[in-house]
Amino acid sequence: MTRPNPSPDGTKRSRMIRIHAIKTGCVQFRPAQIRARASGLGRWWRIFSDREWTREMPIYCYLIEHPEGLFMVDTGETARIAEPGFMPRWNPYVRRALRYRISPEDEVGPQLKRLGFDPGDVSAVVMTSLALGHAGGLAYFRRARIVVSAQEWAGAMNGVGRLAAYPPQHWPDWLAPRIVTFNAGQLGGLPRSQPLTGDGAIYMVRTPGHTPGHIAAVLEHAGCVFFFAGDASYLRATMAEAVADGMASNPSQQVKTLKAIRELAQSRPLVYLPTHDPDVERRLADRDVSVD
Ligand SMILES: [Zn+2]
Repeated sequence: MTRPNPSPDGTKRSRMIRIHAIKTGCVQFRPAQIRARASGLGRWWRIFSDREWTREMPIYCYLIEHPEGLFMVDTGETARIAEPGFMPRWNPYVRRALRYRISPEDEVGPQLKRLGFDPGDVSAVVMTSLALGHAGGLAYFRRARIVVSAQEWAGAMNGVGRLAAYPPQHWPDWLAPRIVTFNAGQLGGLPRSQPLTGDGAIYMVRTPGHTPGHIAAVLEHAGCVFFFAGDASYLRATMAEAVADGMASNPSQQVKTLKAIRELAQSRPLVYLPTHDPDVERRLADRDVSVD
């Protein structure tokens, strides 16, 4: 597990901590999804009736190279999402509110190989959520521990999940995730889990609101908190504004979560790395810890 990974030129990599943002294609949303434009059920209606599209937004997942192994946060989307019949036709959200551009080469498996890694060497995959855009590459990680919250797993499997854009019918048969519990104190106002790594650097925090079981992954490294936010908010700006998104299962809970993240980012250097923010690669390269 700790052997060095060959880089594409065949040389050995030293086992330093490195973060790779892996863009698994693009998606366009309705603007009313990024920032909620109504409260209650009206927020969903505003998405379905919105005639505008956002610009193309990325679908990121992240690889963390760590001395104890390779760790993924989310798995991006699959190119198959664009195939007719992949999601049921009756699902109005998928039919009216999402537009994908993903090629087979954009999937996480081929991209890891191009970076010089074997997906089979990944130790663990933290799933911030199991919704579309996050779980599409699960099939590449059969040998990894797949880590998810109890609420997220239950929500995805209970039928209501299919209405809310979970596609368990496409997940691998072998999928038997490890349920993470949040019994290791707090990171700021967010309940935290036991660490994934022996050095305590990687762990999870509860970030409910977008989905009831939403979690984020955290890497503490070089004096920074790298905050892998998933869809806690779509953008750093909407975290800084502490504004709910249009799809949030519980908007007031999401606002509370975002205020806690903002408070944390104001008290410690924090690099905010959500799934769909077009600015994350620059932010990562610059170690940009500002809060918009
Ligand atoms: Zn997402």
